[in-house]
Amino acid sequence: MAAVDRPKTKPRVPAVDGWFTLDGDDGPALIGSRCQRCGTYSFPKQLNFCPNPACTSQDFDEVELSRHGRLWSYTNNCYQPPAPYVPPSGGFQPFAIAAVELEAEQMVVLGQLTAGVDVSELHVGQDVVLVVETLFEDDEAEYLVWKWRPIEPDATSGSAPRDQETHDA
Ligand SMILES: [Zn+2]
Repeated sequence: MAAVDRPKTKPRVPAVDGWFTLDGDDGPALIGSRCQRCGTYSFPKQLNFCPNPACTSQDFDEVELSRHGRLWSYTNNCYQPPAPYVPPSGGFQPFAIAAVELEAEQMVVLGQLTAGVDVSELHVGQDVVLVVETLFEDDEAEYLVWKWRPIEPDATSGSAPRDQETHDA
């Protein structure tokens, strides 16, 4: 049955269920798992065995991972990935992929960088923050994926700390 009064905003849902939440304490967050015995984290969450080969625990907690990380490595992806990747309406454009180190979890998580990021402007160790972007939408909802967004040291908007001044003229 068609809804007569369609809400102005469609529901925004993760394109892949269970990989991240939009309702984290501090915004969107990846959902991982933590071993109750040895504390090793996994992403995507792993609730059957511990990634630590020395650990035989079968008890895990589902946890939100840190939203902030550091660029550990990155590259430009020039080939269109297979489904579930959905190319933009104008056709495939190369995009940047990052491996991001999460300090608290001592792990590296892969993900795309936000659209428009030029890899020539990135550097290892740069701070990034987890954001969500729309992958595609249909009549029912907007389907979202997580991406890493570089934080500019001199950014004046958003939540970046402003305790760094630039002195070069
Ligand atoms: Zn373990």
